[in-house]
Amino acid sequence: MVDDPTVVFIDVKILNPGQYEPTIIVALRLGKEGALNPNERFELTFSDDTIPRNFKTAWLGALLLALQKTEIYSPLIICTRTPLLAQLLITKRLDAENDMANPAFSLLNAAIAQLNEWTQKVQFKHILHNLASVNSDSPLHESEIDTTPDIMFYNPGILLRTGTQRLFSRILKMKYTSPYRKSSFVNVERVRDTISEVANHTPSNAAIWKAIRSRTFPVKIRDLLWKCFHNTFRVGEFWDHIENLEKLGECPICKVPETLEHSMLSCSAPEREMIWLLTEQLWSMKFEAWPKITWGLVLGSNLMRFQTKNGKPMPHKERLFSILLSTAWYTIWNMRVERRIRTPGKQFEVSEIHNRWLKTINGILQRERILTDKLKFGSLGIDKQVVLNTWSGLLLDEDSLPDDWLKERGVLVGILPMKLGVG
Ligand SMILES: [Zn+2]
Repeated sequence: MVDDPTVVFIDVKILNPGQYEPTIIVALRLGKEGALNPNERFELTFSDDTIPRNFKTAWLGALLLALQKTEIYSPLIICTRTPLLAQLLITKRLDAENDMANPAFSLLNAAIAQLNEWTQKVQFKHILHNLASVNSDSPLHESEIDTTPDIMFYNPGILLRTGTQRLFSRILKMKYTSPYRKSSFVNVERVRDTISEVANHTPSNAAIWKAIRSRTFPVKIRDLLWKCFHNTFRVGEFWDHIENLEKLGECPICKVPETLEHSMLSCSAPEREMIWLLTEQLWSMKFEAWPKITWGLVLGSNLMRFQTKNGKPMPHKERLFSILLSTAWYTIWNMRVERRIRTPGKQFEVSEIHNRWLKTINGILQRERILTDKLKFGSLGIDKQVVLNTWSGLLLDEDSLPDDWLKERGVLVGILPMKLGVG
């Protein structure tokens, strides 16, 4: 004997569409034919909060909720005013079931798994007059639905024959770029927060990406900055899941999980502490108070803004800040790589640290002098006056140099090298 079918009427509405998290309202009326329960309304959320909230996921969510509320041993008739569910789950089911790149993939699979579990016939009916209404005055319940597909009733993965080259590359791209995307997203927000706090302006995403590609930085620093943004280094957590190498995730000096931020800003490694002191020393030849350095500022150094007491911008101070800051962490990072990877356990002498940093900063100064050659570098060069304004006030024996010292030989920053063997 066949049971009386259960009938479900579904109505869906999205409030505030287009916003980051629109609200999904679902109304259900279900029961045996001729004996429907009263209208029920729900504000729907998904247990997997990465599922986007749009028209399609709202309907799939409503269906899943209806299925979860219905007895699986009786035939089922699902009535909606939209043909969408029937399309997704019947006519285009093969496509939908195999579109792994769809952000609603898990939700769709959860609905399919639930339908697979049904022991009786399920029908989708396209109706004109809906007996469920989201606009009724019945109370609104909050409902978070579990969107994890039941592994007993769905096929993980997709059918090879249904995939296209395009789909496979999209899936691969999603799988392998998402961690980078995640960290770069976090870093962009960090830079924005820091800059709006310390420099009183709020840079757009485009401005932040442009800033890290700035020609103020030599290619090597630009490259390192990009890698820091995307967290592509094998540092800290990276080693957590690699058998027998978990120890590499720890800073050997401080015995804490090692992160890029730790290496550059809080590690007790002598080269880190000393290089920041040298940077401050050089800065103080021209300006007061070296700003407190945070990770957001390391990544967004050339978005920093300084003003005179009268509120006039100080582009040369900003430029110098960005150069000194990036040179400091570039040197710290390279020495860290040497100590941890190239010559594990290496300890740097004070004189070696001092001279390494000094050589790097003098190298940057030479690079800038060379780049003022407009004939050679054209639009890739740097304006003479910009270089003069950036570095004047920081040079060794500057009183004996002409105002335009760009062509002079042996121009160096005003800190002397240290004799080897000291420290
Ligand atoms: Zn450390």
